[in-house]
Amino acid sequence: MVARTITVAPVGFDGIIVEVESDATKALPSLQIVGLGNKAIDEAKERVRSAISNSLLEFPKKRITINLAPAELPKDGAHYDLPIALSILCVSGQLNQIDVNDTIFAGELALNGDLRPIKGAINITQTAKQAGFKQIYLPSINASQASLVDDIEIFGVESLKDLFLHLKKEKILLPYEQKESLIGRDLSKISPSLDDIKGQEQAKRALIIAASGHHNILLSGAPGAGKTMLAKTLANLLPELSKEEQIAVTKIHSLAGNVSGEVIKNRPFRSPHHTASPISMIGGGSHAKPGEISLAHTGVLFLDEIPEYTRSTLESLRQPIEDRKIDISRASAHVTYPSDFMLVATMNPCPCGYLGDKTKECVCTNTQIMAYQKRLSGPLLDRIDLTINVAKVPSESLLSTETLNNSQHVTAYALIKSAIERQSKRYKSSSKYNASLTNSDIKKYINLPDDSKNLLIKAAERLNLSARSYFKTIKVAQTIADLAGNDRIMVEHISEALQYRN
Ligand SMILES: [Zn+2]
Repeated sequence: MVARTITVAPVGFDGIIVEVESDATKALPSLQIVGLGNKAIDEAKERVRSAISNSLLEFPKKRITINLAPAELPKDGAHYDLPIALSILCVSGQLNQIDVNDTIFAGELALNGDLRPIKGAINITQTAKQAGFKQIYLPSINASQASLVDDIEIFGVESLKDLFLHLKKEKILLPYEQKESLIGRDLSKISPSLDDIKGQEQAKRALIIAASGHHNILLSGAPGAGKTMLAKTLANLLPELSKEEQIAVTKIHSLAGNVSGEVIKNRPFRSPHHTASPISMIGGGSHAKPGEISLAHTGVLFLDEIPEYTRSTLESLRQPIEDRKIDISRASAHVTYPSDFMLVATMNPCPCGYLGDKTKECVCTNTQIMAYQKRLSGPLLDRIDLTINVAKVPSESLLSTETLNNSQHVTAYALIKSAIERQSKRYKSSSKYNASLTNSDIKKYINLPDDSKNLLIKAAERLNLSARSYFKTIKVAQTIADLAGNDRIMVEHISEALQYRN
């Protein structure tokens, strides 16, 4: 006799339906699993055996063969435990055959029969829904995440025994209902906010522009000038995540191994250390896991002291910054992850950090300064739209003002939101920003009146701007115009944009 249950193998950002067949024959009792499973699946044998016995169910005294089909697909992960256990309970007659067209199971079993959280719960649920399944049973910790996927019934399960009794209709499990609202946040409680930063008006203005047009930004300044805090504030200025974005972000973090079961509601802020390897930065390795650039998707990738990162790490960022996604190829799979992040980088003006500082003298030689600034590769610098110098704020002005309720932040947040809405309308897309305009987009969409254009041409000659800087200035000026509620780029928008060039 053969029994079947259905589950999903997460493959990169998607998944494939997997059938778990089990066959029991009269022979010396044993359990074997075939179908290209890895070590985690081999170990499922012990977990499933203990979980069944400890749930006071019977582990059949037969020769049991489990087949995971399609056989040629490599399988990884402990979430096969639950469908394997259920198929054994079916093949031994303790459960009736479960409807294989309706129901998906996924869950790791503890030895006592409890369900443990799994990686990739959203992938599994999305794949199930797309394949037309009506319901999914997974560990209760993952139910909230899974419920981001509409039009499929989610059941959060505590233990194998509970599910067994439910399937026998001796106990009723109710489908999961999302109780808390996932959208919306209390801006007055956000930290750090613009109101936490004293002084630094020009830097704050640059953050608002960067957040509005999704421009990559470089903050240069002496140690202790507050660059890190400014970068964190930028992440808090970005609008709240839409539901689709929450799904994407939560999914990536779950695939990277975060099994907390939480739904990620805020924009990510990732700050990989400067020793990070290209693989940890862009993703890959034997499991083709998402890297920092995908974990930062929809949020901020913060590279503190960018000249300290190795050249190969910085070079690896160029393509994904352009494409806003990353393709990872391995022998067994080809995976694409989104990586639409804003790059926020900081650097000291020189190795000692005090070049141009009013409080301390720089001790570097010219050669040292040149070598340091050169470490930031030209092509990466080309992808940074805004550069600002962050000066140390004199200590007396740190104490001068005290604001309540994050009022400056709340005002800026509203401005940024409306500037983003103008862009969505203009480009008829919610994921296209001024920063991502191509040169032909600029010709198509941007309204640059003659006086503004003349000012830009003159400045380009005087400042010896490259063609790339010329177009970057237009993009930044468009964002400044959007913040001012203006569709046309005016002279004052060009002159402000010129202040933020490298
Ligand atoms: Zn120096």
